[in-house]
Amino acid sequence: MNSMSQTTHPLSPAQIVTTAVPDDERIWVPQAPNVWFRPLMLNTLQGQWCNLLRVRKAGVLSRHRHPAPVHGYVIKGSWRYLEHDWVANTGDYVFEPPGETHTLTVDSADEMITFFNISGCMYYVDAEGRNTGFEDVFTKIDMCRKHYIEVGLGESFVDQFVR
Ligand code: FE
Repeated sequence: MNSMSQTTHPLSPAQIVTTAVPDDERIWVPQAPNVWFRPLMLNTLQGQWCNLLRVRKAGVLSRHRHPAPVHGYVIKGSWRYLEHDWVANTGDYVFEPPGETHTLTVDSADEMITFFNISGCMYYVDAEGRNTGFEDVFTKIDMCRKHYIEVGLGESFVDQFVR
C-alpha cells in the first residue's frame, strides 16, 4: 500500500464520481409533468440528499417549507420564489435557511437545471400553510427504484448514489 492509497480510511464510504447532467435520459426521475430530478447522493445516515432539478415548463412548481438548510447552484436557466424579490439565474448560489416557506416558480418554459443539497425534508404546504405531503431521502430513493424498474435500468441502479 503506497502513501496515496492510505489517504482513504478503510471504513470510509465509497466515493461517487458521475456525470452530473447524464447522457442517458432514463436517469432523470419524473417528479411532475415536465419536472424531473436526477439523484447524485442519497444520504440515509444524515437524512440529506443532493440532486439536480430539471424543469421544462413555466409556472408554480410547489409551495414548501424547509426544516433544515438547502444549498442550490443554478446550472442552467432561472427561477425564483414568490416570497422574495430576487431571481436565481444561471451560475447563482442560493442558501435557503431553515424555517423558510416559499413558492418555487419558473417564468420561462426554457430548460432550468439546478443542483440542490437538501437536508431533512421538503414539507409541502398549500396557500394556507396546511401540510399536503413531504419528501425525504427515503421517498426519493423509493421514487428512483420505481422509475428505474420502469425504464429497464433495474431498481438497484439507484444504489450507486446511496450512502
Ligand atoms: Fe426551497
